[in-house]
Amino acid sequence: MSRTVIHGGLVVTASDEIHADVLIEGGRIAALAAHGTDAATSWSADRRIDATGMYVLPGGVDAHTHMEMPFGGTYAADTFETGTRAAAWGGTTTIVDFAIQSMGRSLREGLDTWHAKADGRCAVDYGFHMILSDVNESSLKEMDRLVAEGVTSFKLFMAYPGVFYSDDGRILRAMQRASGNGGLVMMHAENGIAIDVLVEQALAEGRTDPRYHGDVRKVALEAEATHRAVQLARVAGAPLYVVHVSADEAVDEIAAARHKGLPVFGETCPQYLFLSTDNLAEPGFEGAKYVCSTPLRPREHQEVLWRGLRNNELQVVSTDHCPFCFSGQKEMGRGDFSKIPNGMPGVEHRMDLLHQAVVDGHLSRRRWVEIACASPARMFGLYPKKGTIAPGADADVVIYDPGAEQTISAETHHMAVDYSAYEGRRVTGQVRTVLSRGVPVIEDRAYVGHAGHGTYLPRGTCQYL
Ligand SMILES: [Zn+2]
Repeated sequence: MSRTVIHGGLVVTASDEIHADVLIEGGRIAALAAHGTDAATSWSADRRIDATGMYVLPGGVDAHTHMEMPFGGTYAADTFETGTRAAAWGGTTTIVDFAIQSMGRSLREGLDTWHAKADGRCAVDYGFHMILSDVNESSLKEMDRLVAEGVTSFKLFMAYPGVFYSDDGRILRAMQRASGNGGLVMMHAENGIAIDVLVEQALAEGRTDPRYHGDVRKVALEAEATHRAVQLARVAGAPLYVVHVSADEAVDEIAAARHKGLPVFGETCPQYLFLSTDNLAEPGFEGAKYVCSTPLRPREHQEVLWRGLRNNELQVVSTDHCPFCFSGQKEMGRGDFSKIPNGMPGVEHRMDLLHQAVVDGHLSRRRWVEIACASPARMFGLYPKKGTIAPGADADVVIYDPGAEQTISAETHHMAVDYSAYEGRRVTGQVRTVLSRGVPVIEDRAYVGHAGHGTYLPRGTCQYL
């Protein structure tokens, strides 16, 4: 069995910061030992990695990506190959992507389609959630089978009428099913029926620029849908995970539910923490780069999101990575913001942006690792295989240089998209080396991985219940 020793670094997990060497055997963490101890110095190894001055982190877990996702007549620009490679560059070694059930089709058919897209192409490990777009007797039954085989979370939409939208009755049925089979319902919580009225009115009045995308998707309509989702989950006796929380009042709804003791969880994304409606209002058609749903909010929401992350009102930061090129894709919405494909690139920069939040004092180092690695792994049944550095865990390890300075740019990023939402932003901290199950994927800032190294991860059920 091949042996790797990572020596001299500071091992940071969600619970500890330990000056320890790490022994990897095969694809797993075998042991940790304090620097300079007999135990550590006696380890023989085929490969030694010097991590002096570096952090040794568990690989990031991004629980919300959309590679090659069809949307509005086009496809998200990253394939599983390019998207997982970019993830690795940014220190993310596991993604959980969304397989989609098409209207009138089975869950199985959707899942098979997504397996075919990902199989043999990923640079790092991956799992799937299932998007339920057609809740009926047979898809409800299929949920049980999927949970049993490792697809344990199901996303429903209160938005996008006519596409992914489910009404309250269908949502309730799916939640009831999840309460029986151990599944976790993930909710896109925005009142899409009301939003569509406002979209129609805005366009009729000639308000067609990207900024109006943010205008019509009102805070109240995110808060209302979040409240309704909580109450439906409560009636069903099911847990609830609210995806991409962007508004202060939606955080309040989740906090209130948790205060009552309900198993309600919240996710936010870097774009809501670092960007705002100021970006949507950038001149020309530039604002289109920042069109995603839920939308970016006015700046003052950011502090509420940071507070929510510190207080554990929000548990996870994922990216909702769903990139569309500015040229040819975002441009489909010139003169009509409702035709701009919804989504932003982000899978590569989550770990770095959140490290910047550590530098800026928003988060502690351990909380950084918790919301980016450990909590998403626990939330989606992957812990402690993923999300930590401990004996027995997969050797998904990031050697992170906390002092390196970098400038985020489309010129240098590895996502297959022609712009960066963070163009020109200076951040402190950068990935140096990344191992996936003990195998180098990034080595001293060079890509040494390959498509097909990443394997499919059947998941257990949510480990917070
Ligand atoms: Zn999404």
